[in-house]
Amino acid sequence: MNFYTTILGSGAALPTGRRHCSAQVVNINGYKILLDCAEGTQDRIRQLHVKLQSLGTVLISHLHGDHFFGLPGLLSTMHLCGRTEPVTVVAPKGAKEVIETIFNLTGNHIGYELNFIEMDFTEGLHRVHECPRCTVDAFPILHSVPTFGFRITEIPRGEHHRAKVYTYCCDTEYNENLVPYMQGADLLCLECTFADDLADLARQRQHLTAGQAAQLAALAQPRQLLLTHISARYKEPQLLLDQASAVFPNTTIASDGLLVEVLSK
Ligand SMILES: [Zn+2]
Ligand SMILES: [Zn+2]
Repeated sequence: MNFYTTILGSGAALPTGRRHCSAQVVNINGYKILLDCAEGTQDRIRQLHVKLQSLGTVLISHLHGDHFFGLPGLLSTMHLCGRTEPVTVVAPKGAKEVIETIFNLTGNHIGYELNFIEMDFTEGLHRVHECPRCTVDAFPILHSVPTFGFRITEIPRGEHHRAKVYTYCCDTEYNENLVPYMQGADLLCLECTFADDLADLARQRQHLTAGQAAQLAALAQPRQLLLTHISARYKEPQLLLDQASAVFPNTTIASDGLLVEVLSK
């Protein structure tokens, strides 16, 4: 398995004993990217035996707490554990000010180079990371605060090896204008906060239902759909799986600790 994501947290805003809030570690031919960083992410990293210091790139979709509040603690722990390698945080505008304010007011010193790439655009794909293993392009999605999806593309290892793509969109409302950003993904990860009977609530809160997420997948045609950001009200996700897979059959519901491979279409 050369390209896969490990789900650290698959829950929506409220952490429960069953689901922690949003975070994943994406592994692309050995290069690791942290994707969102909810409160408790550093504990999840330890529990799942990911080496903390192997993470040098952090992508933050938006600044809601269930995607971002784990970052100051994580960065601080990296320093306490003797980090010398730089860390780059790709996040919506404002993240740098939040982190620097916390560190300044709390007298927290970071002994390694901490770089921020702040996203402040409302259309198009923008390259936010490239390295010998992968590229990452960000694009705006639709939520109550500036929010971005990410398209992670591996750099093929051989001539006949097609580059696989993992696309992550969390959190967003339903809008078919987002489909072009999702097209070309082998694995598409979408949020799925609610079941279909709560479509009104989903619209108000700018989230997706299971059926809406699957409809976006049906239009974008990835090989596989991965649904995450599950509301705490669903103790068993079978209802969400039934609703989504009726529209897009190759659907998986994320669970904490699950590892999902990016397989070629
Ligand atoms: Zn969220
Ligand atoms: Zn949100």
